[in-house]
Amino acid sequence: MAEHFDVVVIGAGPGGFRAARRCAQRGASVAAIEKEYVGGTCLNWGCIPLKVLLASAHTLLAAKQAGQLGIDIPTVTCNLQKIHERKDAIITAFRKGMTATAQANKMNLMQGRAFAVAANKIKVETNGSTSELQTDRLILAPGSVPVELPAIPFDGQTVISSKEALSLPEIPESMVIIGGGIIGCEMACFYSAMGAKITIVEALSQLLPMEDEWVGRLIEREFRKLNIDSITGRKVTSVDKTTSPARITLEDSQILEAQKVLVSVGRKPFVDAETADALKLRMNGPAIVVNDKFETSVPGVYAVGDVIATTFLAHGATTEAEVVAVNATGGDQTMSDYHLIPKVIFTFPEVASVGKSEKLCEEEGLDVTVGKAFFKANGRAVAHNMLAGQVRVIRDNATNNIVGVTMVGDMATEFVALARTLIGKPYKPGEITFPHPTISETIEEAAENAMGKALLD
Ligand SMILES: Cc1cc2nc3c(=O)[nH]c(=O)nc-3n(C[C@H](O)[C@H](O)[C@H](O)COP(=O)(O)OP(=O)(O)OC[C@H]3O[C@@H](n4cnc5c(N)ncnc54)[C@H](O)[C@@H]3O)c2cc1C
Repeated sequence: MAEHFDVVVIGAGPGGFRAARRCAQRGASVAAIEKEYVGGTCLNWGCIPLKVLLASAHTLLAAKQAGQLGIDIPTVTCNLQKIHERKDAIITAFRKGMTATAQANKMNLMQGRAFAVAANKIKVETNGSTSELQTDRLILAPGSVPVELPAIPFDGQTVISSKEALSLPEIPESMVIIGGGIIGCEMACFYSAMGAKITIVEALSQLLPMEDEWVGRLIEREFRKLNIDSITGRKVTSVDKTTSPARITLEDSQILEAQKVLVSVGRKPFVDAETADALKLRMNGPAIVVNDKFETSVPGVYAVGDVIATTFLAHGATTEAEVVAVNATGGDQTMSDYHLIPKVIFTFPEVASVGKSEKLCEEEGLDVTVGKAFFKANGRAVAHNMLAGQVRVIRDNATNNIVGVTMVGDMATEFVALARTLIGKPYKPGEITFPHPTISETIEEAAENAMGKALLD
């Protein structure tokens, strides 16, 4: 007889794992089924491995620049094999940790490819055999895959995706990165620090096009110092792999040469065709359509994370998972404002933003004041020689509420949760004591500047 669960979750990435754990903590019997590795893209081919690589790159750059702080390090070399071994060990340790967490929370973590044949009937294929589960509620969290350019398909050797880029056995002399979004820019920082000549080609008019224009300009300027060239407003049309290095042609006929071509033009939702067809899920292209409770067009079937194409961020998926876990276990919750989910980019320097951007405020016709503060005027940042950085805080003049914060600079990603606490109300001096000397004081200064005379109201 098929085993019965209150909730079955397909996919154990950040979205699926968090949803399953919270459902179990809320008293439900839960099975989470994963076809590859627990932790999903985030732990195995995304957030964590890339941050491990960036940590090594950051250390290498710091060692090279140590002379400016009076520390002479005569030779600095990188050991790529050791970097990859460290990365793999970290991933393995976290997988073990997640498996232990699943056990501690009485979640049934199962290995296999799962697909729904009905809303309450799930088949699991494991090593050639198929078993069946019965469930009252189903949560789909199967994630996403890299977008492939039809004219420049991945071959895993010359034209690669972020997955291969996380494990190249050698640093190429040169790499063209197609796409100047988050992953493309983070990869550029790693490979340039390791000595590769990097050129980013971005079709839109700036790097990091989802951020305000000043962010793209600042990052482009800092990237030049790292030997990263940026070509914006132009598309790559073809890659000729018959030569070595490969020849990359742009739409204006400019030709670049590179040993590797990393295509990072975004990710697209993925769900097994069997599941989508059997349940007749309403889709928007490859994305599953959900309502504000994350319920799909089929009652009792929910979806979260990359597969619903909302944030394409791990913490976006986990925030959605918290809501869906309540709804799948008898509660009733909706998602709060997506603008309040911070965006984080681990470039050199980092970028983080929360709330509304200046671009969005303009589109919405808001009358705003933008307060600025600069790393080069901040004691801690100067002490650490981290001079490239700027914080902007946006006030809606009609309400005096802070509506958005964007921060570029070292460790910016660590401060964005603090910045989030400013949003939705006027900034009041003294409400938060910003310790001195810390980089967080740039947020205080930018907030004061945004408030202007309203600070005294
Ligand atoms: C290089 C890179 C760097 C990134 N860096 C960051 C970052 O710094 N910060 C950040 O917030 N986000 C980052 N992301 C994005 C983040 O990884 C994703 O947004 C997040 O993993 C999405 O979580 P998810 O649970 O929706 O899907 P996933 O993490 O993709 O997990 C889905 C899981 O479902 C499994 N699955 C799919 N189909 C089935 C099936 N039929 N049966 C069983 N299992 C199935 C898959 O094997 C996978 O493990 C990065 C992504 C990449 C590629």
